[in-house]
Amino acid sequence: MGKIYELAVIGSGPAGLTAALYAGRAELDTVVVEKAPISGGQIINTYEVDNYPGIPGISGFELATRFREHCDKMNLPFVTGEVKDFQLEEDIKVITLDDGTVIRSKTAIIATGANPRKLMVEGEERLAGMGVSYCATCDGAFFRNKVTAVVGGGDVAVEDAIFLARLCKKVYVIHRRDEFRAAKTYISKLLSMENVEVIWDSVVEEINGGEVVEKIQVKNLKSGDKKELAVDGIFIAVGYNPSSEVYKDVLELAPGGYIKADESGITNVPGVFAAGDIRTKELRQIITAASDGANAVTGVEKYLNSL
Ligand code: FAD
Repeated sequence: MGKIYELAVIGSGPAGLTAALYAGRAELDTVVVEKAPISGGQIINTYEVDNYPGIPGISGFELATRFREHCDKMNLPFVTGEVKDFQLEEDIKVITLDDGTVIRSKTAIIATGANPRKLMVEGEERLAGMGVSYCATCDGAFFRNKVTAVVGGGDVAVEDAIFLARLCKKVYVIHRRDEFRAAKTYISKLLSMENVEVIWDSVVEEINGGEVVEKIQVKNLKSGDKKELAVDGIFIAVGYNPSSEVYKDVLELAPGGYIKADESGITNVPGVFAAGDIRTKELRQIITAASDGANAVTGVEKYLNSL
């Protein structure tokens, strides 16, 4: 049957790299699988990370490089490939990559993250990180006393708008329907804030600016009217796509596709753990992903000891 690892870590963003670091230190026979040519996950493209304790203002790429270099001290094998299939052969986790490679392991930590959904409008990609943001918790502080727009109408959009309204001079909330789908208490709070203006039944058609965001083009879906809003930043909160498709026949997923797991990372399958943005949780950040990676390894050790 070939080699059976003690642990396979899938994904090498902050959660996967932290899990690998802890696994290396615990001397677990570990393999890390990553589909991208470099490690780091979502932070690779983040212009500036200003909320990771102890290293303010570091670029996402630099932080990702430091995570990976630290991990490399453990001398673990990294395999480049996309996991396309995940099955159980009794207690063994069988992981198949896009090139047909099969990895067998007693345990697995799934740390494949979740990608923010895009609006797919003109200017969005070009100005990402230059005023276009997908994370108010991460980037809100850069827009103190400025004018911002939030796009979306669910819980995250409403919470982001409240968070930004406390910092910004003015916050537009642009929602394509005529009511929010969020907790009532949050909606009342948002609507009571004087510097918030909700623009109902509308979508953003374009994001404009030279080096940074300067304005957005908004269209009312009912009347067809168009208007231009001068903004310094636009926060897109229209949902996430968790990278969990491969696991849906084996693991219990929550609505929205996140793997059901608390901070221990324990899933419905013994020996399979979920860490970072891929699992059900409140706050998706680098620090919480790293924390999950460490916790999941503790679970792995307990599981291996019980065999
Ligand atoms: P990810 O970082 O998403 O990493 C997942 C990894 O798994 C990736 O490397 C991916 O290639 C790999 N993978 C996925 N599927 C497969 C597969 N099938 N096979 C193999 N590998 C796979 N947080 C902060 O704390 N501060 C910030 O300033 C900040 N800024 C952000 C800015 C942006 C634009 C975004 C999108 C997010 C930001 N975040 C920030 C959030 C933070 O990046 C995430 O919470 C964190 O990266 C989650 O880490 P993770 O390891 O769970 O997942």
